[in-house]
Amino acid sequence: MNKKKHIAILGSTGSIGTQALDVIRANGNVFAVEVLTAGSNADLLIKQAIEFNPNAVVIADETKYPQVKEALQPHDIKVYAGTKAIAEVVEMDSIDLVLTAIVGYAGLESTIAAIKSGKQIALANKETLVVAGELVTALAKEKGVNLYPVDSEHSAIFQCLAGEFHNPIEKIYLTASGGPFRGKDKAFLETVKKEQALKHPNWDMGAKITIDSASLMNKGLEVIEAKWLFGLKAEQIDVIVHPQSIVHSIVQFVDGSMKAQMGLPDMKLPIQYALGYPDRIKSDFPRFSFINYPQLTFEQADTKTFRNLALAFQAMNKGGNAPCVLNAANEVAVEAFLKDKVGFLQMSDIVEQCLQTVAFISKPGYTDYVETDKETRRVASLML
Ligand code: NAD
Ligand code: MG
Repeated sequence: MNKKKHIAILGSTGSIGTQALDVIRANGNVFAVEVLTAGSNADLLIKQAIEFNPNAVVIADETKYPQVKEALQPHDIKVYAGTKAIAEVVEMDSIDLVLTAIVGYAGLESTIAAIKSGKQIALANKETLVVAGELVTALAKEKGVNLYPVDSEHSAIFQCLAGEFHNPIEKIYLTASGGPFRGKDKAFLETVKKEQALKHPNWDMGAKITIDSASLMNKGLEVIEAKWLFGLKAEQIDVIVHPQSIVHSIVQFVDGSMKAQMGLPDMKLPIQYALGYPDRIKSDFPRFSFINYPQLTFEQADTKTFRNLALAFQAMNKGGNAPCVLNAANEVAVEAFLKDKVGFLQMSDIVEQCLQTVAFISKPGYTDYVETDKETRRVASLML
């Protein structure tokens, strides 16, 4: 019996974080929880800590520190607070693998800290690669760190590449469900409210990624994520809408052969694959039945109506700090949409405006990304 894999979960109270804990709970002989971190949900963090008995927990919201500290007093669990503490705690020697499941730009600093200290990464926080893909992948290479994708599409590509890493990729097809507004026109989108956008047909996810899925920005972010994870050029990445979310993505090799990975839409599968790699662990997840899905369909994405996907390709092709601008503008836009401050279509306007306005830097370093993020948020908030 091998030693258990000791896991740190950054963002343990979120959609990915709680599903990762479901996977760990079901496989206590394979995994142990070393660190849990949360933004502000102290109640759930405490509950998780009592169940999984990690070495340490961090609550980013410092006002919640006394509550967490007091609740965990009787247990032998270290308690820290603040964003800096998340970036510090990932350096602990006892951690084998860090699952980055914080949402948004807020996940960047701790992911970089984990890579610097040589920890293997299960990467859910796609925004990290959108903002600073060049820097993060170069650092991972330098430190001998693998980035195991958690995003279902990227996990699919990764699973198709297993045993084929030496074979060049001709092209990949990222599948997209199309979200709740597939087939709708601009007149309809003009009127939609957050309640409608938050109802995703196939996946149950955090609020930010659910809005991104409705606006197709999620697929745009995933295109950029794929570029960095698999070392691809823009023309090697295609998006295809597949409303049933059964084919999770496809790799086309240089001989024309295509491999796809399939299964019911359940994030626990890609999470478990990333945590357990290179092993597949037996699971009782519901199995796909062809009879229940007599048709799997594919169609072109409508980038005229859903401009975010086109904007993401544009930012990726421009390179430099443009994807960082795209991401920050989108985070401001989504937050404003969730507060009913802007309409659905205005989100793309904000992103487009920021891409035009914020100063371009062709070879950004870490501090340039920090500055670009800050400046873009300032410019974007002026449009609200
Ligand atoms: P979520 O909102 O459900 O959870 C986010 C987690 O991060 C929570 O634990 C929260 O407390 C923590 N957090 C938020 N802001 C923070 C901050 N400023 N500092 C520290 N912690 C903070 O989000 P999610 O849906 O689980 O998504 C997490 C990441 O995984 C995102 O990058 C998302 O794009 C990616 N992802 C999610 C899914 C999914 O099915 N949910 C699928 C693919 C990729
Ligand atoms: Mg995805």
